[in-house]
Amino acid sequence: MRLPLLLASTSLIACATPASAATPKTTYVIHAGKLVDVRASAVVERVTIRVEGAKIAGVKAGFVAAKSGETLVDLKDHTVLPGFMDMHTHLTGELSEKSYSERFFMNDADIALRAAQFARRTILAGFTTVRDLGDRNNVSVSLRDAIAKGWTVGPRIFTAAKSLATTGGHADPTNGLNADLKADPGPKEGVINGPDEARKAVRQRYKDGADLIKLTATGGVLSLAKSGQNPQFTKEELEAVVATAKDYGFTVAVHAHGAEGIKRALRAGVTSIEHGTYLDDEAIALMKSRGAYYVPTISAGEWVALKSKEPGFFPEVVRPKAAVIGAQIKETFAKAHAAGVKIAFGTDCGVSPHGTNAREFQYMVEAGMKPMDAIRSATIVAAELVGAKDRLGAVSEGMLADLVAVRGDPIADVKRLQDVTFVMKDGAVLKQDGRAVAP
Ligand SMILES: [Zn+2]
Repeated sequence: MRLPLLLASTSLIACATPASAATPKTTYVIHAGKLVDVRASAVVERVTIRVEGAKIAGVKAGFVAAKSGETLVDLKDHTVLPGFMDMHTHLTGELSEKSYSERFFMNDADIALRAAQFARRTILAGFTTVRDLGDRNNVSVSLRDAIAKGWTVGPRIFTAAKSLATTGGHADPTNGLNADLKADPGPKEGVINGPDEARKAVRQRYKDGADLIKLTATGGVLSLAKSGQNPQFTKEELEAVVATAKDYGFTVAVHAHGAEGIKRALRAGVTSIEHGTYLDDEAIALMKSRGAYYVPTISAGEWVALKSKEPGFFPEVVRPKAAVIGAQIKETFAKAHAAGVKIAFGTDCGVSPHGTNAREFQYMVEAGMKPMDAIRSATIVAAELVGAKDRLGAVSEGMLADLVAVRGDPIADVKRLQDVTFVMKDGAVLKQDGRAVAP
């Protein structure tokens, strides 16, 4: 019999959960059979986690009884972990055969309402925090705020809003369109040419309410353009983005497949390399010496490689890129991990389906990472990347109460992480016994 008190007080839970931002009043006493201590890279057994309001008030050895007025959560046959953090999502879209045409038929309101659904799927999969790396018309900024206000349920979002590209580059929103529609987007739309426009585009993101900057330093798989890996920013443009970003307290996340673009970005001082498909030895050495993070997104690589085999799924200009680049990422990850590059968990969900984020753990382990290190990459390392190590990414006193639980032992079988049965964010229970309890 699990969770007797919790099940007995369903109405109380419903009251406690509608707003993730509004501090819940409930005090939870959580009995965890196992707890993954990501700071010590250890699993501790039989602990009590006390949650008061939005924060963890204490973690004690043994099972401490709940007092009257407190709510017991019985996770004695579960392993409890910090809420997972995905450093690369796109909540405003999801790849399908219709992706390339839907922009002509969907308004921003349609995109936002659908994004709310994707956000809900993401958090119910155990991902309580994400970085959103590229949207349209700042919809992810509105989504972030709607979630924070409790208007809808989803992960805490750090968003780049619209990513920065150069003319014809990956994330130029008019690539591949007919001449009437191609237009000439500029810094406001996230397309820059030259350092001045680069600075203006960063300042525009500040004005738009972004949390960080994303740029596309090389070609990409899904854009309607020939190369998936050519360098697309000059040294001067990259330096202008990084210097301006620093003025506004932004980190810089960089989409890059080809080695030349990766190296230019690293030399300019960017924070993270996303995908990194053709990382060579020199790029790996640069990543280590600069302390840059690698966000692999194996999930996206595996997914597009699979979909490239379906005739008609991709436009013909995209299909060969998906087949070749997609298939390479897992191998690159193995090489980077073996070389000791700092790795932060990221999936690119939105390319792969939302809610399947935890498959990335399995891919990382298949490519040679220890389950504990894969878990650390999605918790303590990710928290460091978003500058929130003081409040996110670990289960200890004073941290925000973002917790997930799975049955059994995910260190012995990492696939367990794909079946999260309990989710708490900011001290509010959103999933219990495998079922959503959120509104
Ligand atoms: Zn992406």
